[in-house]
Amino acid sequence: MFGIVYWKIMIISCVAAITLWPAATPQAQPVAFAEWLKELKTEARARGIRPVILESALAGVRPIKRVIELDRRQPEFTLVFWDYLSNSVNDQRVWRGRKLLAEHRPLLKRVARKYGVQPRFLVAFWGLESNFGDFTGKFSVIGALVTLAFDPRRAKFFREQLLAALSLINDGHMSVGVKGSWAGAMGNHQFIPTTYRDFAVDFDGDGRRDLWNSLPDIFASAANYLSRSGWDDRYTWGREIRLPPGFNPEVSALDIRKPLSEWQQLGVRRFDGRDLPAVDLNGSVILPAGFNGPAFLVYKNYRTVLVWNRSIFYAIAVGHLADRINGGGPLLAVRSDNEVTLSRTDLANMQRRLMKRGFDPGAADGT
Ligand code: CA
Repeated sequence: MFGIVYWKIMIISCVAAITLWPAATPQAQPVAFAEWLKELKTEARARGIRPVILESALAGVRPIKRVIELDRRQPEFTLVFWDYLSNSVNDQRVWRGRKLLAEHRPLLKRVARKYGVQPRFLVAFWGLESNFGDFTGKFSVIGALVTLAFDPRRAKFFREQLLAALSLINDGHMSVGVKGSWAGAMGNHQFIPTTYRDFAVDFDGDGRRDLWNSLPDIFASAANYLSRSGWDDRYTWGREIRLPPGFNPEVSALDIRKPLSEWQQLGVRRFDGRDLPAVDLNGSVILPAGFNGPAFLVYKNYRTVLVWNRSIFYAIAVGHLADRINGGGPLLAVRSDNEVTLSRTDLANMQRRLMKRGFDPGAADGT
């Protein structure tokens, strides 16, 4: 227990330190930036991007201070599970998701048949990523990616994203002035450029992969990405469960997988007390708000959601929103007064991050 408290304090201190870390100020190094940009254009041309596209897309571009500020903010570590869930899966979003599922059912069914992803999940991802297309981002994608590719923190990753975005513009899939998130995520499902390049599909057959205006392209691209990441539409994502008295919390971890029959033997039940489904499937028990919070048994599709977004909260929110859009009710567990702020998995992730930053938090086991 002391260990957890100690590490929470350390982590809070480190998050504060990361937040206060003096941001690199690319604006103060105009010569270095100009040289960097010249070299970037050389590489882009070598990858087959036409000079006219480069001159147009990169005209007057310079690092955006706000993008660096947002990159340093790391907001995902400040929300507790219940707050995250009530922000992501609210009644308004559920209501709209149900309406849109009904409205676009024929198209969603065609996409589901071709790619093997149930319509309710496609609508749930859509709701979480852009509130069904309402918020696709207001930053210049090229400006944001130039900023993050020039900034040394994750330069290699964002340079690849920038080159992918330029290549998509070169091939006519999106415009020079394309807008997206501060990190360059784009369209109704907020694909980063390499995901766009590798998984987006032209489902309406007009020759462009348009993730802003074409619902056939939007749904099919999300379904193709999920399908190629391992989605299996014979199953759902997981479910809320009830743990038996004396359940050993040590076996609640994503890396502990057991057949449902074994969980059944260990006393795990659906929340209403009924038996677990008698299917040949492995699952893991996870406790995103600690031992006093809700418990879930998650299946392999949950792991596929983690490929899309590695946050364990996000993956539960997407599954739960899909259930609610499908007519299901809110979670049945009651919010505890003494909620654990960080889940064990999140704590382990933080420990790994601390290690990468040169601290020594012991084993990355979340304790
Ligand atoms: Ca299209």
